[in-house]
Amino acid sequence: MRHDPLDYLADELNSLRDEGLYRPLRVLDGEQGARADVDGRSVVNLSSNNYLGLTTHPAPRARAIEATRRYGVGSGSVRTIAGTMAIHVELEARLARFKRTEAAVVFQSGFAANAGTVSALLDRDDVIVSDELNHASIIDGARLSRATIKVFPHRDTVAARRILEALPRRTRTLIITDGVFSMDGDLGALPELCELAEAFGCIMMVDDAHASGVFGRNGRGTVDHFDLHGRVDVQVGTLSKALGALGGYVAGTRALIEFLQRRARPFLFSTSHPPAVAASCIAALDILETEPDLIDRLWRNTQFFQNGLTALGFDTGSSQSPITPVIVGDARLAMALSDRLFQAGVFAQGIGFPTVAQGRARVRTIVTATHTQDDLQFALDCFESVGRQLGIIQ
Ligand SMILES: *Cc1c(COP(=O)(O)O)cnc(C)c1O
Repeated sequence: MRHDPLDYLADELNSLRDEGLYRPLRVLDGEQGARADVDGRSVVNLSSNNYLGLTTHPAPRARAIEATRRYGVGSGSVRTIAGTMAIHVELEARLARFKRTEAAVVFQSGFAANAGTVSALLDRDDVIVSDELNHASIIDGARLSRATIKVFPHRDTVAARRILEALPRRTRTLIITDGVFSMDGDLGALPELCELAEAFGCIMMVDDAHASGVFGRNGRGTVDHFDLHGRVDVQVGTLSKALGALGGYVAGTRALIEFLQRRARPFLFSTSHPPAVAASCIAALDILETEPDLIDRLWRNTQFFQNGLTALGFDTGSSQSPITPVIVGDARLAMALSDRLFQAGVFAQGIGFPTVAQGRARVRTIVTATHTQDDLQFALDCFESVGRQLGIIQ
């Protein structure tokens, strides 16, 4: 019999199981709602990025159906050949207006936007100065670019300055940070990094995947939140989180966008969104512009839930956003907390290495605008009883 060349995979999986890091995929039956049916249980859902409930909002849903009726289910090509539809162009114009930039370009996902943009902008002689907790798609883009990657400790702008001071003059350099860090919910050191970028003549880039629809006026993101319009050269956002559907985009100058349309590989070599996706994103932008009270509700829920967790004695790290980690340290303990919460009726995923550092395992929670006070109180009660059972709180 032929030797199975993949048999090392079983060993890898077994070692994940031993470390408590093998997680079955939870399966959602029905909508991604504040309450959801997951693996046959009705649970309060604290695991989705559907911050504003737009995934199931009637307007984007109706516009997606209408676009499907009119234009079909697919775009039929990559953007540069025949896959640029009027609705894609309309979405990009709307995004540019939303972000207050000259232009914008949409990618299939936030991951593709970051990986495609970083790898297109930099080359092997260049340098990328990156926060250590930046998203995997930034890291992959940096690796693909073949530029030298210099990582600074999380939010440590003194260390970032030291890196910049040591570079040969006129090295083309990109400074990059997440706007909101996805596992800790804290904000990137954007104002300080902008100053460094200006002092050292660097390109400034922010990944606002978790900030768009959440921070800034009408959810315009951290650039608006910190009032840094015109000072961030490359703004990445996602359409997959608060905007409810799927996709990523880059907003910036017309030259940046025209360059990416000709050099970013996911734009050149991967088919564009189905028209339904573009239509639902346009509808989502309409909602952000006309119903900002949804964002207020998100923040009220965030306040209520974070205050509740801290009052119970949980370590919620340094969150400044609706992402609230409950940090327990040990991966097996984090997974036990997640599993028992699930049995009690709360869906909050356990997260361990390599998504977070060793010894920093946690259960990550995200509240949304569509949770009721009852949902959140129920979740807090479950955290209290399970946290006591496991000795995480007294
Ligand atoms: C989720 C996320 C992405 C990827 O976005 P997708 O649209 O899901 O591909 C990129 N960057 C950060 C910081 C994220 O949290």
